[in-house]
Amino acid sequence: MSEELQYTDIKSIPSTIDNLKVTFHSGKTQSLSWRLDQLRNLYFALKDNEDEIKTALQLDLNKSDGETAIFELNVVYGDLLYVIENLSKWVKPTPVTDVSPLVKLSQPKIHHQPLGTVLIISAFNYPLTLSLQPLIGAIAGGNTVTLKLSESTSYTSDAITQIIHQYLDNESIAVINGGVEETTVLLQEKFDKILYTGNGTVGKIIAKKAAETLTPVILELGGKSPSFITENTDVKNLKIITKRLLLGKFINAGQTCIAPDYLLVHESKYDETLQNLLENVKLLYGDSNFRNYSKIIHERSFERLNNIINNSHGTIIFSGENAADKRFLHPTIIKDVTFEDSTMKEELFGPILPIIKYSNLNDIIDEVIIHHDTPLALYIFSNSSEDHNLISTRIRSGSIVFNETLLQAGIAQLPFGGIGSSGYGDYHGKSSFYAFTSQRASLNQPLWVEPFFEVKYPPISDFKLRV
Ligand code: NAD
Repeated sequence: MSEELQYTDIKSIPSTIDNLKVTFHSGKTQSLSWRLDQLRNLYFALKDNEDEIKTALQLDLNKSDGETAIFELNVVYGDLLYVIENLSKWVKPTPVTDVSPLVKLSQPKIHHQPLGTVLIISAFNYPLTLSLQPLIGAIAGGNTVTLKLSESTSYTSDAITQIIHQYLDNESIAVINGGVEETTVLLQEKFDKILYTGNGTVGKIIAKKAAETLTPVILELGGKSPSFITENTDVKNLKIITKRLLLGKFINAGQTCIAPDYLLVHESKYDETLQNLLENVKLLYGDSNFRNYSKIIHERSFERLNNIINNSHGTIIFSGENAADKRFLHPTIIKDVTFEDSTMKEELFGPILPIIKYSNLNDIIDEVIIHHDTPLALYIFSNSSEDHNLISTRIRSGSIVFNETLLQAGIAQLPFGGIGSSGYGDYHGKSSFYAFTSQRASLNQPLWVEPFFEVKYPPISDFKLRV
């Protein structure tokens, strides 16, 4: 494990991809046994190397061991076990039965065909899950894989590289380390699918490049995910609600793609919400020693977030001493914010919680739609099913969660992805299998049915059609 990540030699990239293509065409990765072996090896590789992974994540992002266990390792284990348990069912061709008796004779089926050689580009904020969950899907789908890890988490990327080299089939799974230069060279190659996780600006670069070769892409991007506390939220629930919101916001110092970006609170619940937020944030994040608290990944992000705080017209109700040398940005809660505020311009992706007071639910939904349509997640805290329906039908989002935050990403059985500007395509669990396979229609028409289909041959006479 090292602070200085060994970048892949750019000159070796084309031949690495060529070799993966040769392996794919050998058929090796398509067998169920190869897929299951690799997935089981990955599971045991992680079990064997848990301590190294926890240390790496602590060095890269100051994630505590407990946080790594719950929010990284356990999420990957859950996905792996689910896929391993079900893959033998999923790979089987699916018979199509809702057809007429005549069509049934031709045995229509859907085969789940591996795509070929795929590329995964992952991001820094959850460096283990964001690289290994797509990898699980690509292996389950029977593909050969290039995994481009984040250059910003050198220790974790180095640990993942070593694990893959040691435990997985390196003829079929290659790791590329590097930054923009290496990724640009990678994108010169023709892949059969690309899954990219990161910001929308780079997402557009990837999609544009992929379009040149008609390569399908999954884009896992971000956005400004709103959270609502409505008029119909029971005050006695605010203690739990604010705790859930604070965790969703401040875990990993806000560098979570599905973090509740900002909070909209009905005026009738505003004071109680602020009071509960303050009580809970002091309990959860009052310790100014930054134990169990992640650091901001880059100097430039640290500066960006500080500027947002300094330019805000809202009132800061909770913050603390930052430790700029270590890039620790204290959890900051800002009340009385408007949609014109510095905190509301772009996805925060940092430990700042702006709060907006509203009086009319429909009007505030209008504002959300005007300013930040189609976020990655939408969080609703309300006891009213009418509020649920109104918010969920008017605001589109990649996921919608009532009374909780973040949990949707940890349930392998749920698809994970965005809509509109938060991305397209989804993965996790069975969705990953579908993301990395294509549905191949198949028929096997018996020759003896010929008399039933005589009508299709020319000359197609009226008489024949009447028959
Ligand atoms: P990042 O800096 O780790 O970059 C992501 C990847 O893009 C890296 O592998 C990097 O090498 C590559 N990259 C950067 N510039 C490139 C270029 N010019 N050409 C090709 N590749 C390039 O992460 P980030 O982009 O800062 O990630 C933060 C964003 O990602 C946030 O918006 C967040 O919401 C989003 N995100 C989304 C998800 C999701 O699952 N939807 C998960 C995590 C993060």
